[in-house]
Amino acid sequence: MDYQALAELLFPNVTATVEEIEARYPARNLPEGAKVTRFAPSPTGFVHFGGMYQAVVDERLAHQSGGVFFLRIEDTDGQREIKGAVEALLRTLSDYGVAYDEGPRIDENGNLHEVGAYGPYKQSQRAELYHVFAKKLVAEGKAYPCFTTAEELEEIQETDKKAEIKNTDWHVAAEQKRAAMLAGRVFTMEEVRAHLAAGDPFVIRILANGDPDKKTKFTDQVKGSLEVPENDEDFVLLKSDGIPTYHFAHAVDDHLMKTTHVIRGEDWLPSLPKHIMLFNYLGFKMPKYLHTAQILKTDENGGKKKLSKRDMGAKMDDYREMGYVTEAVWEYLLTLLNSNFEEWHAQNPDKSCLDFPFNIKKMATSGCLFDFTKLNDVSKNVLSKMTADEIYTKFLDWAQQFDPAFAACLAADPDKAKAIFAIGRGGKKPRKDLTTWKDVKPYMSFFYTPYFSVDRTPLARFPEEDVTAVCTRFLESWDPADEMGAWFDKIKGIADALGYASDMKAYKADPTAFKGSVADVSMFLRVAVTGRENAPDLYTVMQILGDNETRARIQALMNV
Ligand code: GLU
Repeated sequence: MDYQALAELLFPNVTATVEEIEARYPARNLPEGAKVTRFAPSPTGFVHFGGMYQAVVDERLAHQSGGVFFLRIEDTDGQREIKGAVEALLRTLSDYGVAYDEGPRIDENGNLHEVGAYGPYKQSQRAELYHVFAKKLVAEGKAYPCFTTAEELEEIQETDKKAEIKNTDWHVAAEQKRAAMLAGRVFTMEEVRAHLAAGDPFVIRILANGDPDKKTKFTDQVKGSLEVPENDEDFVLLKSDGIPTYHFAHAVDDHLMKTTHVIRGEDWLPSLPKHIMLFNYLGFKMPKYLHTAQILKTDENGGKKKLSKRDMGAKMDDYREMGYVTEAVWEYLLTLLNSNFEEWHAQNPDKSCLDFPFNIKKMATSGCLFDFTKLNDVSKNVLSKMTADEIYTKFLDWAQQFDPAFAACLAADPDKAKAIFAIGRGGKKPRKDLTTWKDVKPYMSFFYTPYFSVDRTPLARFPEEDVTAVCTRFLESWDPADEMGAWFDKIKGIADALGYASDMKAYKADPTAFKGSVADVSMFLRVAVTGRENAPDLYTVMQILGDNETRARIQALMNV
C-alpha cells in the first residue's frame, strides 16, 4: 500500500506540512522550571466544582513557577455546545479571579476575542492543524480510513454483546471485537477510491499495535507510579465530519501549545494507553500528568458518591445564588486541594491565599469529599475578617440581584448599613454571625422599619408591670449622648430600683432575693428595640437607631 498516495487521496486540501505547523508554534521562552498549564473545559454552560478544582491547580502551578496558564475551549462535541456557554464560562472564571494568561476573553462590548500567540484557543478553529497531523499519520501507515458506517458498527457491537453474554471468557469476546475491527483495516486503494467517489462517510482510526498484556510503567504526578497496558484499540482520531476526538485533539494541542503539565480528572486515566500511543506515533514528548481525584459527596445512606451536576454545589454559579462569596469558595477549594493549607492559613492569618505555597505532593490521591459544613466554617471566617465597607459593597451587589427591596433599604443610607456591619468587627475575635449573604437579612433587618415589628412574646414570662416600669424609667433617663458606661449605669439603677439585681455576682449567690437581674432588664429593652432576645450589642443598636426610633420602639412595646 502506498500510504503517501492514500494520505493525498484522503486529504487533498491539506497542503501545509507538519514542519510548517511546528514553525508556527515555537518553544516558549520561559525560565527553567516554569510550568505551562491549561484549563480545557467543554462549553457545557457551566463550570463544575471539579473543573474549578483543576483550574485552581492549573493557575497555581503555572503562576507559582513563573510559567503560563492558558484556557482552551474544547468545543469538538458540537451537540453539547450551548449558546452563550463560552461567555458564561469566562464570566465564572473572572468572578472567581482565576487569571489565565492566554485564551478567549470578553471585551468591554461583550465580544469575544483571543489573547496569546499559541491559538486559536477554540478547538473548532483548529481543524487545519488536526488534519495536517492526521495526514502525516496516514502517510506513515499509522492511521487509516474506516468506512464502516455507524449502523454497521452498531451491528458489530450488538454481535459483540451477544458474544460477551455467551462467552464467560471475556478474552474470546475481546478477540471477536478485535477481529471485527481488523476487518475494517484491510482495504485496497481501489476500494478507497470507490468509497470516496460514492461520497461514503469515513473516520480516521489509529492503527494500534499494542499488546494489552504488556504493561509499561508510568508516573502520574498525583497518583504516583502506575502500570499502564499497551493500547490495542483502533480508536478514532477524526470523526466523519473531520472533527477530532478528545484523544487526538489532546495530543496535537498540548504538543503545539507547549503544555508541560496536564491537569485533568481521573476519569481520563483509562484513556492513558491511547494517549501514550498517540504521542509516541506522532513523535511528541509527553507532558507530565496530574490526574485529580474525583469530587465526592455523602449520599442519603452515608455512602459516598460522585458530585453530579444535579447536586447543589456542583455548578460554580450555584454558590453566588446560595450567597457564598468567591473568596470563601477559593479558600475552601484550597483546603480540599492541599492537606496543609489550613495549618498554613492559621499560621499566616493575614496573608492572601495566593501566597500559599501550593504543593502537588499534598494533593488528595483519591476521592475528595465535598462537604457543606466545612465550606460554611470557612465562609464564616472569611466574612468575619472582612471590613464593614467590604461587606457592605459585596452584600449590596448580591442583594441587588436576589433581594432588591432589602438592597434598596440599605442603599438609602450607606453609613447606617456600614455602622451595622461594623458591630463586633475588626477586633481579635470578630463576631461570626454571617455564613452566607442569606444570613444578613435575618441578622439585621430589624434595623429597618419595614422589617421591624413589635413582639412581646419573649417577655410573656415576666410581670407586665415590670416591663412597663423598665421602659418608662428608661425613656425618662435615656440620653443618646451617653457613653456606654453611663448608659449601662442608668440601666443598673433601674434594675436596683425595681428589685432586679444590678450585680450579677450578688444575683448568682442568692437568686431568690431578687425578681431577676440586670440581664433581664436589658432583655426587656432589647426585645423592645430589636423585636428579639438575641441581637448585637444593645448600646450600639440604640446608637444606630437614634433617639427618635429608639424611643418610638420602646413606647410601642408599652402600647401593645
Ligand atoms: N474537555 C475535557 C473535559 O472537559 C478536558 C480534559 C483535559 O483537561 O484534558 O473533560
